Amino acid sequence: MTTSFGPDAGSTHPRAALMTVAAALCLLAAAGPSGVEPLAMTEVAPGVFVHQGAIAEPAPDNRGDTANMGFIVGDSGVAVIDTGGTPELGRRLREAIAARTDREPVIVINTHMHPDHVFGNAAFADVPIAGHANLRDALAARQDVYRQRLTDELGAGASAGIPRVRVDRPVAGEVRIDLGNRLLVLTAHPTAHTNNDLTVFDRKTGTLFAGDLLFIDHLPVVDGNALGWLSVIDGLERVPAIRAVPGHGPAMVDWPGALDAERRYLTVLVEGVRRVLTAGGSIQEAVAHVVEGERDRWLLFDAYNPRNVTATFAELEWE
Ligand SMILES: [Zn+2]
Repeated sequence: MTTSFGPDAGSTHPRAALMTVAAALCLLAAAGPSGVEPLAMTEVAPGVFVHQGAIAEPAPDNRGDTANMGFIVGDSGVAVIDTGGTPELGRRLREAIAARTDREPVIVINTHMHPDHVFGNAAFADVPIAGHANLRDALAARQDVYRQRLTDELGAGASAGIPRVRVDRPVAGEVRIDLGNRLLVLTAHPTAHTNNDLTVFDRKTGTLFAGDLLFIDHLPVVDGNALGWLSVIDGLERVPAIRAVPGHGPAMVDWPGALDAERRYLTVLVEGVRRVLTAGGSIQEAVAHVVEGERDRWLLFDAYNPRNVTATFAELEWE
């Protein structure tokens, strides 16, 4: 840190020196004992903390901080839910945990394979990782591509130190984790946003970490199956939560009303693609026209809608 502005810049004036020391102490306090800046967290319910990522593609200005992540504190330890898009974000999340509790992380839960949710796992090498039973194979198949993309977006420094895929606690169906006076219910879902979506329900506060099964403001991204996603939404709606943490969007939203916009988009997507297919139209026509009415309702529409239409065209072509 340099304070090289004003008439005292570069001088040995005692007041300037004092200010420099004060500024350095301030920085140390902000950075925490390990030297990284803790992520900003919101306590959305007692003991439930969420960091809100930017609604954007990973870029130097957001340092890859484009997904929500959080942690839940129990009497015997902390469950970490997603770790961010870079090893640095994982370290900053770990610093935020240390700033809030003296309990240690005992489990990292990845909601699915996308790199903006898992590459911070690098900062939790000593902690077991839980994920959908399909997560290991799905991420192994894509990891090299994801790492190269991150290098292209943010530079080699951002992607250095990303470990090989590790899933120590594969989840099929439903698994309960006792954090000490706090029960978490992990549910592995059929193919929807991806083929490895997993949700975490904190029974104590009625908080559902929905991962990318719930997009708010950010256009939903179909990397799995649109019809499957609609069916998973029907099941999710019955989870007795009072609030949810989306994978992208605000730190917290009301449940289940927050599902409405996503369900509408996916329904319009499926119906629009079906109409084009029934009329014998091409995939190009579908991309050009389907879901246009939703354009103004979402961020990143042009980045993701064409590929959602393409994926759904391929999905429904053989119905
Ligand atoms: Zn995702």
